[in-house]
Amino acid sequence: MDGIVIIGAGESGTRAAFALREAGYRGSITLVGTEPHLPYERPPLSKTVDGAVQLKLICAADALDAVGITYLKGLSATRLDADAATVTISDGRILHYEKLLLTTGARPRRLACPGAERALDFRTHADAEAIFSNVAPGRSVAIIGAGLIGMELAAVLRGRNVAVSAIEAAPKPLGRAVPARFAEKLHARHVAEGVRFHLDRGVAAIGEDGVTLTDGSVVPADLVVSAIGVLPDIALAEAAGLATGNGILTDAYLRTSVPNIYAAGDCAAVAEPGGGHIRYESWRNARTQAETAARNMAGNAEAFAAIPWFWSDQYDLGLQVAGQPQPAHQPVRRLMPAGELEFYLDDGRLVAAAGLGIGNSLAKDIKLAELLIAAGVSPSPAALADPNVNLKMLLKSARAA
Ligand SMILES: Cc1cc2nc3c(=O)[nH]c(=O)nc-3n(C[C@H](O)[C@H](O)[C@H](O)COP(=O)(O)OP(=O)(O)OC[C@H]3O[C@@H](n4cnc5c(N)ncnc54)[C@H](O)[C@@H]3O)c2cc1C
Repeated sequence: MDGIVIIGAGESGTRAAFALREAGYRGSITLVGTEPHLPYERPPLSKTVDGAVQLKLICAADALDAVGITYLKGLSATRLDADAATVTISDGRILHYEKLLLTTGARPRRLACPGAERALDFRTHADAEAIFSNVAPGRSVAIIGAGLIGMELAAVLRGRNVAVSAIEAAPKPLGRAVPARFAEKLHARHVAEGVRFHLDRGVAAIGEDGVTLTDGSVVPADLVVSAIGVLPDIALAEAAGLATGNGILTDAYLRTSVPNIYAAGDCAAVAEPGGGHIRYESWRNARTQAETAARNMAGNAEAFAAIPWFWSDQYDLGLQVAGQPQPAHQPVRRLMPAGELEFYLDDGRLVAAAGLGIGNSLAKDIKLAELLIAAGVSPSPAALADPNVNLKMLLKSARAA
């Protein structure tokens, strides 16, 4: 038996390797990863402790050995032959597989302007080292892209007394995934912390002294970081003839268009019940899809159905979003001692919730909101808005009904 080969040793690939063992899979498991480290968590890269970049490992080498996972560190899969069920590795060896999991993640979107090569990316531990080893109090950094990663970086740099300019093509920062109310609050906090925003403007060129914007103005900077989003890493799958779009297309069971090949995490675009495919870029999604894919590779038939959830830390504020709030949803606000929650109703049904508060103070409430969303309840807006109405009680009565 050729066993299972996993390409990509990030959150998803590594979690899948362990989940295969937890699901009782006894064949060989080979995990192939381009990066020169043991598998590590990406979120801590933009949440430095005392200004230092953390390399928080997902697992130690011993843990991989203990359950018989072979880790090919610092090696890439360069070719996939789906007919022969083989993968060629960058050191020349050819791996045969019984089943294959693609967890190749995502890579930074690139700027196309003159001087784009001067901008540093922010995706890997090496990228984080390159950024943080080049900043010091009094120096200036221009961050292109005011999304979650760019704004987390801005917060960390302001904490180190680095001058930060944020350049964003949209009229507001954090417009993509963060509910408007919380995006505004975070924006205001960044302004109060001294981040200078250049909104609604594109980048014309990057030079030695900084960034020239499309309106001709120049944002001076010692260092430029590009944080304009990521693209799913589909090259291997595409070259092998697998169906791709905005990611490697899978069905609800995380099976690709080719039998015995699965995909999970940032690289996977998963079929939705109502049609179409959806791709997420979040830590928990990478884990939960990995676990579902692993169980299915081990013989189960489980449709992926987790509620999306992500968090972001900026300054002392913690944001959490469960479900997918849409502008068309009815928002219901609940003020809390350490922040605020917002619930989102679709035709009366609770479909999403978000919270912004000090540190992790709203984590329990968001967890309960997730359970309420999963239960498919339609609580009264008045109950949701009232901080004296215990969400646990709402859940209990929903379950009893
Ligand atoms: C700085 C930063 C902060 C973040 N903070 C948060 C946060 O606060 N909250 C949150 O929810 N999410 C956060 N995320 C997003 C989260 O980390 C990702 O969604 C998650 O890491 C995705 O995991 P993945 O395994 O799918 O992909 P990745 O982590 O991208 O891992 C894929 C791996 O596959 C490797 N690979 C690709 N091609 C090949 C190949 N051909 N052969 C071998 N290996 C290959 C890549 O080198 C990479 O190591 C953050 C991301 C970054 C970069």
